[in-house]
Amino acid sequence: MRLGFPRALMYYEYYPFWAGFFYKLGIELVTSPSTNREIMEMGLKKAADETCLPVKILVGHLMALRDVEGIFLPRLVSMEENTYLCPKILGLPESVLYAIPEQEIYTLDVNWREGKREVLKSLLAFRTRIGRTKSQIREGFAEAQRWQKAYRRMRNAGWSFEESMECFETLAEPLKLKDLGFSRERSHRQKTADFEDGWLLDQGDITDSLEKKPRIALVGHSYLTYESYANMNLVQRLREKAQVLVVENVEATPIELQQSHLQKKIFWSHAKKIYGAGSYYVEDPEIDGLIYLSCFGCGTDSMTNDLLARRARQNQKPYLVLTLDEHTGEAGLVTRIEAFLDMLERRDDYESNLSSYGEHMDRHSSFT
Ligand code: SF4
Repeated sequence: MRLGFPRALMYYEYYPFWAGFFYKLGIELVTSPSTNREIMEMGLKKAADETCLPVKILVGHLMALRDVEGIFLPRLVSMEENTYLCPKILGLPESVLYAIPEQEIYTLDVNWREGKREVLKSLLAFRTRIGRTKSQIREGFAEAQRWQKAYRRMRNAGWSFEESMECFETLAEPLKLKDLGFSRERSHRQKTADFEDGWLLDQGDITDSLEKKPRIALVGHSYLTYESYANMNLVQRLREKAQVLVVENVEATPIELQQSHLQKKIFWSHAKKIYGAGSYYVEDPEIDGLIYLSCFGCGTDSMTNDLLARRARQNQKPYLVLTLDEHTGEAGLVTRIEAFLDMLERRDDYESNLSSYGEHMDRHSSFT
């Protein structure tokens, strides 16, 4: 059995989980190609105008999946306790079925809010669609969790998104990853080589020994940060001139702690993660500036962006918002990034050399 899996939206966070699940069940999971012009155009043509860019890209990927017996598109309801995904994700797959009428859709609800037991229940109910027994599903679930855990460990150990995903997509037995040394004990030499190859987004101890570059935190949805076609290679461009940290480099505990700045915890899973990581970076004196990568039409971003902008203002942290949509031009994006980086450089050189008027003249002086 060959099932298609779109390289969009939840691919960026949960592909290892589903790859492990289907691997154990002997079902081939075929991913769509990386986003390209054809995929983007198909998505833009077919998707509803009012929806956001990531959903439009998803539609393009669904249409690009050919030679498969069906498409696997789970409905992710929540990623953790007390949170939900945004309504556009909750509306999947029904909201995009019209784009692929000839394809059979395999779906189920995945609600981590209710705990592992509920997710397993949902998978057991799904077993009749794929013709597997209860015990096979249980084994598949255990394998899926192991793969997902391996993915998290790799990211925490400093593997970049591209590097870790390549392992899950190309290795027949990704759990042999252990042999590749994905633990925190990777050698300094190996990490340096990875950094120089452009694989690592950041490694504190390594970067210290490398050329001094500004440290930038890039915050936003994983499916925008790593969607290099839609964001016009933003991460690569930034890496050429700065050290880049992303939301995934912040662990769950600091994200949770940062919610204390708010009167009420954010209940959208992604918004909570982005705000928590962004707010953490705002407080980090080692971070020179924040870039919020947003997309036109995203309801939760409009709120998170404003909350983070206030935090950045309070902490005098330079803050840039880049909003992507299908009309975003490369020249405009590059100009804005360059202006931001220039400003960081000037700030570093002349920070204390300011007029005597105003409040909070700089981060280090005692007068306000
Ligand atoms: S959170 Fe925003 S970008 Fe993501 S699917 Fe929802 S509306 Fe789109």
